[in-house]
Amino acid sequence: MKKQLLLIATLVVAMSCKTEQTKKETTSNMVENPLLVKSSLPYGAPDFTKIKNEHFMPAILKGMEVQNEEIAKIIANTEAPTFENTSIAFEESSKTLDNVEAVFYALAGAHTNDTIKDNQKELAPKFSKHNDEILLNTKLFEKIKAVHDNLDNLELDAESKHLVKEQYKKFVKAGANLSEEKKNELKEINAELASLSNDFGKKLLDASKKGGLTVTDKEQLKGLSEETIKGLEKDGKYEIQLINTTQQPLLQTLENREVRKELFEKSIHRTDAGDYDTSDLVKKMALLRAKKAQILGFDNFASWSLQGTMASTPDKVFEMFNGLIPGSLSKVAAETKEIQAEINKEGNDFTLAPYDWNHFAEKVRKSKYNLNEDEVKPYFELTNVLEKGVFYAATKLYGITFKKRTDIPTYHPDVVVYEIFEEDGSKLGLFYGDFFARDSKRGGAWMSAFVKQSKLRGQKPVIYNVCNYPKPAEGEPALISFDNVETTFHEFGHALHGLFGNQKYASISGTSTARDFVEFPSQFNENWATHPEVLNNYALHYKTGEVIPDALLQKIKDAGTFNQGYSIIENLASSNLDMQWHTISVGTNIDDVARFEEKALAKMKLKIDEVPPRYRSTYFAHIFSGGYGAGYYSYLWTEMLSHDAYDWFKNNGLLTRENGQKFREQILSKGNTMDYAEMYKVFAGRDPQAEPMLKARGLQ
Ligand SMILES: [Zn+2]
Repeated sequence: MKKQLLLIATLVVAMSCKTEQTKKETTSNMVENPLLVKSSLPYGAPDFTKIKNEHFMPAILKGMEVQNEEIAKIIANTEAPTFENTSIAFEESSKTLDNVEAVFYALAGAHTNDTIKDNQKELAPKFSKHNDEILLNTKLFEKIKAVHDNLDNLELDAESKHLVKEQYKKFVKAGANLSEEKKNELKEINAELASLSNDFGKKLLDASKKGGLTVTDKEQLKGLSEETIKGLEKDGKYEIQLINTTQQPLLQTLENREVRKELFEKSIHRTDAGDYDTSDLVKKMALLRAKKAQILGFDNFASWSLQGTMASTPDKVFEMFNGLIPGSLSKVAAETKEIQAEINKEGNDFTLAPYDWNHFAEKVRKSKYNLNEDEVKPYFELTNVLEKGVFYAATKLYGITFKKRTDIPTYHPDVVVYEIFEEDGSKLGLFYGDFFARDSKRGGAWMSAFVKQSKLRGQKPVIYNVCNYPKPAEGEPALISFDNVETTFHEFGHALHGLFGNQKYASISGTSTARDFVEFPSQFNENWATHPEVLNNYALHYKTGEVIPDALLQKIKDAGTFNQGYSIIENLASSNLDMQWHTISVGTNIDDVARFEEKALAKMKLKIDEVPPRYRSTYFAHIFSGGYGAGYYSYLWTEMLSHDAYDWFKNNGLLTRENGQKFREQILSKGNTMDYAEMYKVFAGRDPQAEPMLKARGLQ
């Protein structure tokens, strides 16, 4: 729900098989390229003492070259296609590239620089082309298809059979059954889309960094703490940078309404005019995607994109929206009244505007629950939250234990590393946590892997979490908000999904699952943040070590259902925008992005002035530069799953080793090895239901 996180893994997987003749470009000395030799570190962890900027490009090009050679071998093989000489050979053709890409995209997200940015721009069309040339390779597809069509006669285990089916579906989805002419048309579209998407991401990043608000008079920052103000100061001025979402964190505390308005306007208009205008990119991408879907035989992009997901069709997604909208609207109407009353109570005579919402909502929260973040934060010191909260819950549920490793090199001094062990002491994997915001990191929070679990490759998982918590001053403790506590649990839920992967094949291991399934383990893991036993273990005052008082705890819980109308409507609004952009047909006339957006929201009764979408179209990175096109609904979908699963735990004794083991065996360790709806049913004994989510949100 509130954590809008991108799984980079999804992108990497999406881009991890393709091809191009680029031999001549790989000029530097491969022998010395640390990305191309097996790391001598535990778990094959990347050796950041050796990896330099200049190693990425040649290593990635080499990875593509290796894959091309492996594929050429599959095609040249004169023997009949078999599971080994085709399916496994194809699966393993991307091994080098997978491992190099994993490190490159980790840094591109968490610790970028000009070289990496340039490489990314250069690589975007190359990857797209590489990918297309593989997935649209007729000879390769014939081999893959031959194995697939003969599947009933092969004696294979269930996972291997699933791999064959997945490979086949992937080719068909990418257009392998099209005529040569159509394939070429598709290739061109894909290359253009990749390049537009990259431009979008770049403009957006610049807009967020440079398009924020500059304040010259300190007086205008009234409401902010001295510490925050100090952090904003630059050359005698105060610069407020934008974060990804429409609402900006400082809007909560800024007292000056004009300043709030200005900051908000900067946020919602960051990319709709001037230097960082992305409207044309949005229009072009939406129409090109429609065109792509048409070539592939679908009515619209969403219908094509939803293949293989748990929801499976746009209708099912809209059905979910329609089930949530009425309850959400009445909740938000009640919240609006409450906040307006708070505004009036202070003697103001203005009408609630979106930039007032968080400011006055915080006051309502305080008066209603008497809870303020400053009172709570001293109990949420990051290392305690991580080790005594997140890890503790994982130990209770899954029996795993953690040991800090200071001997493993990282890409930034803020990054912490832990080794994880099974209950019997055997090795499970490595976990990296990179928690603090910095300029070289993009916004949000996410999980991915440096090394993906695969029994075939003899790889144990090396997983990382990246977040954007404010970094404390030197020597000060990192006290985080409860929201960020939940993010820490959330991201580690993804980490567990990656760590517990128990597959032979990397491409279907761990978190390599459908978009509307992948956020399920992470959202589910958030539930433990408020479990009394877990809380009592980690929520310790950073100075006194005193456990969080029961009264305060109760307040946090009560406050948990606060503002849920706002939160779900802003999510529904963005999810709906995503679906509306991706259910247009070829030739739809879009004269203006803002007008399209307005109509799209009004159509679903989601055009509410004081509750703008969490992301407006022109800065909706998930769908226009993050691989989540027609997939943003997944957060709501998986929220439904997570509440339903927690309901199962509630009915079975909650935090027990036995429950954890069952969840691990039937969900967390399954990767993409069976139908998701079926997988869920095996675990819960029935289909998921929306009731627990509606209750948890206070919508029922
Ligand atoms: Zn997530």
